[in-house]
Amino acid sequence: MKQYDYIVVGAGLFGSVFAQCAKEKGKKVLVTDKRNHIGGNVYTEKINGINVHRYGAHIFHTNDKKVMDYISRFADFNRFTNSPVANYKGEIYSLPFNMYTFNKMWGVSTPEEAAQIIAEQKKEISAEPQNLEEQAISLVGRDIYEKLIKGYTEKQWGRSCRSLPAFIIRRLPVRFTYDNNYFNALYQGIPVGGYTNMIEKLLDGIEVILGCDYLENKNEFALLADKIIFTGPIDSYFDYCEGALEYRSLKFETQELDIPNFQGNAAVNYTDSETPFTRIIEHKWFEFGKDENGNDLPTTVISREYSSEWKPGDEPYYPVNDEKNTALYQKYRALADKENGVIFGGRLGSYKYYDMDQVIAEALKLAEKEL
Ligand code: FAD
Ligand code: UDP
Repeated sequence: MKQYDYIVVGAGLFGSVFAQCAKEKGKKVLVTDKRNHIGGNVYTEKINGINVHRYGAHIFHTNDKKVMDYISRFADFNRFTNSPVANYKGEIYSLPFNMYTFNKMWGVSTPEEAAQIIAEQKKEISAEPQNLEEQAISLVGRDIYEKLIKGYTEKQWGRSCRSLPAFIIRRLPVRFTYDNNYFNALYQGIPVGGYTNMIEKLLDGIEVILGCDYLENKNEFALLADKIIFTGPIDSYFDYCEGALEYRSLKFETQELDIPNFQGNAAVNYTDSETPFTRIIEHKWFEFGKDENGNDLPTTVISREYSSEWKPGDEPYYPVNDEKNTALYQKYRALADKENGVIFGGRLGSYKYYDMDQVIAEALKLAEKEL
């Protein structure tokens, strides 16, 4: 009998949900993370009373009632609705693409007029869209593509829109109504008190070792449990033997400002190609500019987000799900299927562009099957 039933590698959302379920089923679990904090990319830290999203803006949204019911056991969610604005060389547009955007772009005021302009502009794409550029033009026309999509996307992915898969842009809704809600989701909000509190509750009563890289201590961990849940990058587990999968990495430049309001919104996307960052997050607006007692916060904290190609030593953030990387991932998947006693999960373990709710759903599914 080993000391633990499971070692969970990664104290992010996937690892924490699985660990919580395992503990609830009476299993002995040890969670380990190489970072010096829990939460993975949803980690928030308090600066001047503001919950700062250290790894970028995270807005929880889902249509899945089971996921919502589950996660609500560990947090109350506020009524934050994501409505980012786009700044194109000083022109401000509403996102996602909706009647406010079309009005600003073309001066139209009815859905029919907007649809007509888009229909005219999308004529240049006659066949099934083969890449992100063609998909974008066929959804919203060339004007919006040029001002609100091309620069932002090419900065974010470091690749031309013609070489990116079409599905990335289908994540964004296109609406012929005056509706700035970025997500088509039944439930949406930010955990009151920050994501770190929520993860702390998930991990309540579970042993966690921080600042410890599993891969550097594999043999010691093997003595402690027969089963591993691995939520780090799948290629790192196999020592990149088939070559490194590509990721996009991010750098955040965070500034405390002695003013109450920097940009009047939680997220502003800079959609031109010259501005070097993709967006600026003003964290206080995720919680309406109030502290936990409902008082107005006097200062603010902002983060500029820069996107870069991942290289060894950087944090991998976004899997690049193009054809080449998907084929390489399949090779790792085949190795993973043969690896006894190790289950791969989460955004990096599955090399999938999962949102938080999908990660929770996958972890719950695994827990149901496994426990
Ligand atoms: P992670 O959070 O990456 O956790 C994996 C953990 O494993 C990390 O803590 C890492 O340190 C650890 N680890 C890796 N290798 C090792 C090792 N060898 N040893 C020990 N530990 C290791 N989703 C939404 O739903 N809404 C949003 O608004 C949203 N915004 C996002 C914005 C950005 C900038 C990014 C990058 C993602 C966003 N997401 C959003 C997605 C969300 O972050 C993920 O779905 C979720 O955090 C994934 O959880 P995870 O546990 O799979 O991975
Ligand atoms: N996108 C864009 N302009 C914007 C916002 C998003 O062109 O102002 C595109 C971009 O290609 C991005 C995709 O839409 O990768 C999906 O956006 P989302 O906000 O879902 O990206 P994420 O949350 O993953 O950063």
